[in-house]
Amino acid sequence: MPKLTITQIIPNKLCLSCDVCCRFIDDNASLAPIFLPGEIIPKVKPHLDKSCRVKLQPFQDIHACQFFNAGKNKCSIYSKRPFDCRLYPFAIMFDENRKKIILGIDKKCPFSVKAGNEALIKNYFHYLSDLLEKKEIASMIAENPLFIGDFQYDVIQFSYLDTLAKLVINNPEKNGFSAISLKDKDVFDKFFKKIENPDSGRNFVNLFIWKEKNPVWWKQKNEDPEILFEMDSGYIDFNSLKKFPDYVYLRKDLADLKGNRYKHKRASCNYFSKKYKFQYLPYKQDMKNDCLKLFSKWASARKQKFQDLYYHKLLEDSFSAHKLAIENFKTLELTGRVIKIRNKIAAYTFGFELKEDTFCVLLEVCDLKFKGISEFIFREFCGELTGYKYINTMDDSGLENLRISKLSYHPIITS
Ligand code: SF4
Ligand code: SF4
Repeated sequence: MPKLTITQIIPNKLCLSCDVCCRFIDDNASLAPIFLPGEIIPKVKPHLDKSCRVKLQPFQDIHACQFFNAGKNKCSIYSKRPFDCRLYPFAIMFDENRKKIILGIDKKCPFSVKAGNEALIKNYFHYLSDLLEKKEIASMIAENPLFIGDFQYDVIQFSYLDTLAKLVINNPEKNGFSAISLKDKDVFDKFFKKIENPDSGRNFVNLFIWKEKNPVWWKQKNEDPEILFEMDSGYIDFNSLKKFPDYVYLRKDLADLKGNRYKHKRASCNYFSKKYKFQYLPYKQDMKNDCLKLFSKWASARKQKFQDLYYHKLLEDSFSAHKLAIENFKTLELTGRVIKIRNKIAAYTFGFELKEDTFCVLLEVCDLKFKGISEFIFREFCGELTGYKYINTMDDSGLENLRISKLSYHPIITS
């Protein structure tokens, strides 16, 4: 286990003249420092109890840590003291109902209440909460849940540690849930078939390919799966998830591009087909690496064009979704098409049957230096899907540029 180190902000001078730390009112204090596995050196081991807390010893009329040097008023293992001591006066504790985990500061420390320290403490809180919310750090603490203290009224609360709470309190694995995997496809497919009008989020493909951004957990409950959706802030029951509306089109409109309202789309397609020598082909598994390279190129071009940071994050998260879709396209029963120009992949698109009359276009990525390529591959793909009445291009994630692009194809509904 890696050692946890943090920047210290309390001046040494203040600590050396203070009589709060390292002393405890009673001898089984749950506040006695706990050592994490990577911190237990041979010299420390004999002084720890079964929970890896320091055994306390009588000191004046109270108790003190075994490593406390009363004569010098300092720690005798200062450079090897545990993270628990380094963290103090900042504290990680459960809330009163043990439903959340709080990061706070103990009012007993004179530094925490001294006027003028507010800004320094606030900045440090931000630094600490960013550090403690990192998944590897939260996992390390979650493996040693005794590290998390009980609720104390004299700790000033700063923020909730949601990642840690997810691991310690709500961990779905402990409640019989499993992470979604390819072998679960049949169960989910059967379940979603029962929904009369499934939107693009209510299908196995989307849940599976986005699982690195939002892990999905499920267990069988009576006949149907109970599904939990993991967000940064915790777990949400799948049924209570709110989603942006999907864009749905008549397939024929997109395949024919007839009339004045589609004249720009038609012109783009015509430009592309006249200007470039290309091949429009079914996707094959040996095209995977070239498709992913194209994704990276496309994503960096999109980032340069659009400054929206939320969109940038979405593009970053999309890589794993595209990778999972492309790698597992057969098992996911996707249909894929590519365009090759000069024998290189210049565009790809994938989709799947959402319901009997509706095909969902899941991914589309193009090398935008080829003018009209996006309009062309979309039209060709829709032209092929003659067994469907409707095309669903999913939602716009609340992004203006996606909204404009999806509206430009004249949806019949945004459902
Ligand atoms: S209570 Fe605060 S000031 Fe006093 S020794 Fe502990 S950390 Fe230092
Ligand atoms: S390990 Fe050191 S810093 Fe921690 S309580 Fe004991 S004496 Fe104090």
